[in-house]
Amino acid sequence: MTLRFIPPGQTLGVMGGGQLGRMFVHAAQQMGYATAVLDPDAASPAGLVAHHHVQADYLDATGLAHLGAVSAAVTTEFENVPAAALRTLAAMRPVAPSGDAVAVCQDRAAEKAHFGRCNVPCAPFVLIETRDQLEAVDAALLPGILKTARLGYDGKGQVRVADRAALAAAWDALKQVPCVLEQMLPLAYEVSVIVARGADGASVHFPLQQNLHRDGILAVTRVPSPDVTPDVQQQAIAHAGRIAATLGYVGVLCVEFFVLKDGRLVANEMAPRPHNSGHYTLDACDQSQFDLQVRTLAGAPLAAPRLHSPAVMLNLLGDLWFRDGAAEAEPDWAAVLALPGVHLHLYGKASARPGRKMGHLTVTAATAEFANAVALQAAEHLGLAAW
Ligand code: ATP
Ligand code: MG
Repeated sequence: MTLRFIPPGQTLGVMGGGQLGRMFVHAAQQMGYATAVLDPDAASPAGLVAHHHVQADYLDATGLAHLGAVSAAVTTEFENVPAAALRTLAAMRPVAPSGDAVAVCQDRAAEKAHFGRCNVPCAPFVLIETRDQLEAVDAALLPGILKTARLGYDGKGQVRVADRAALAAAWDALKQVPCVLEQMLPLAYEVSVIVARGADGASVHFPLQQNLHRDGILAVTRVPSPDVTPDVQQQAIAHAGRIAATLGYVGVLCVEFFVLKDGRLVANEMAPRPHNSGHYTLDACDQSQFDLQVRTLAGAPLAAPRLHSPAVMLNLLGDLWFRDGAAEAEPDWAAVLALPGVHLHLYGKASARPGRKMGHLTVTAATAEFANAVALQAAEHLGLAAW
């Protein structure tokens, strides 16, 4: 179904009840929409704050019918929502992004093929689905990273491999599912670009942000990017715009890039939804990535967002709850809240686990230097390594 302007007062639905869904719900509610979340977990972060929580599996026909019945339009908050579920919903209601667009982002091989169609360079790679393909791998791709084609996130489903023996062992460890082997690239730094594209084809973007990963998980995002050149910034924004337009994409899309030591820009992957690296937009921009997700879903006009403050975002993983040995203890929030320009976001998850995204903290300031200095102090209070 095509998207027409949905006025506030109606209900916007979202597949998935994680933190991204929760922040979408908050943004929708601020604009006067009611909200509905489909998630199997009774205590999902978004389900806890939405008007309707449909507690069902993502492919449950009754649950999907219920979500479709109460929602004027439906979006998604995670890329591994079965594309079939989005297609089922699309028979009842406008769905953005489409199941077809999400399906491209779900599969690293399809994603890289799409980058190729858009003339966007990515890491040299090969698809591995059979033992023969594994054995025929070009030596130039090693050392490399073997990644499952589907269902990877936060560095899960990937193994760094130095040589053929390690590659064969890694593929066995990944249960011989379809994988891509990517050449290990010499990264200078990493950036991402978030674009929002409406059903009418109009698109806007945030400034590019610089991301630091630790153990495959985003740890720190800084904006403006301290290292990027105007040329790389322009290229990345043009690439992301082309990637969205060529997909006929409607919604918020994030494209992650590597900047190599020789200055080249290479696309890594994309996410068909708001992204962890864009959480700073809640506090540092006049519209957040979630506000723009609401606008694209409601068929509302898109206005270009403006960064009004330099910002540094720190991810708060469950590890912070286990600093002093075994016992789970709440981090010292009072110490970080005493610092200027600190915005604490916790996602309402009942229990902390190492590696689990519990919340994030954004520091805004008049200058990038001051934001960074305060963020370093916050990190020290919390026991996070400096950058
Ligand atoms: P997420 O979904 O959380 O972004 P992911 O599990 O999908 O992560 P990737 O983005 O593919 O994983 O990789 C995670 C990190 O590993 C990258 O941000 C980068 O730091 C490193 N990495 C991935 N691929 C390469 C590569 N080809 N060369 C060098 N480093 C890489
Ligand atoms: Mg990634």
